[in-house]
Amino acid sequence: MKDEIALNMMAVQQRIMETCTRCGRDSNAVRMIAVTKTVSAEIVRGAIQAGAVLFGENYIQEAREKCGVLAEYQVSWHFIGHLQTNKAKYAVKLFDLIHTVDSLRLATELDREARKIGKVQKILIQVNIGKEASKSGIDAESAEMLIRSLAALPNLSVRGLMVIPPFFDEPERVRPHFRGLRELRDSLNKSGIAGVSLDELSMGMTGDFEAAIEEGATMVRIGTAIFGERQ
Ligand SMILES: *Cc1c(COP(=O)(O)O)cnc(C)c1O
Repeated sequence: MKDEIALNMMAVQQRIMETCTRCGRDSNAVRMIAVTKTVSAEIVRGAIQAGAVLFGENYIQEAREKCGVLAEYQVSWHFIGHLQTNKAKYAVKLFDLIHTVDSLRLATELDREARKIGKVQKILIQVNIGKEASKSGIDAESAEMLIRSLAALPNLSVRGLMVIPPFFDEPERVRPHFRGLRELRDSLNKSGIAGVSLDELSMGMTGDFEAAIEEGATMVRIGTAIFGERQ
């Protein structure tokens, strides 16, 4: 199992490098986040021993348990799930980067909890590029206003944007969402929000990360290709 995960990680890293070469990007500019929802702490330990340094979790309770068991390791945990305001307190303690901030209410709570522990919490803004009614994320048109409001919160630092596109079998159908996120990021950077530089684009999963890299992803979130199908 451990060897298999090590091989899977190498294969994903290889595909990241090949994609970067193909589209003329520096492969150091794309980081692989190993997505560990439903994966046991012991398997995550194996991934750490095989060299993974960046992990993504979707659920606070699950992450608290795993981070506790694996506290001895110098690895970085990111939150990529839907965050409820009443869990902000735990989130700021556990995560180096929270990818899924989509409201002023949640951001204000994160700022408050981060201040209590003397931290500047790095966050991404989750954008609903496809405007699906059921998805979380803020509309592209409202992102600028939200980011301008957040710039005033001293214990938050907005680093970029994140998208979870609708599910399609073919990566080419997802590509417009990736492109839309990059274009939004570029236009926000151009309009210049004081104190904010949006460098990160968190986009791309097992089925479509190559298209995401071609469109500018700086972080790809990979679960299945590393740990196998989830139950
Ligand atoms: C589960 C999950 C992933 C990983 O998906 P795979 O298709 O297994 O690579 C990435 N991003 C988010 C937000 C997820 O919830």
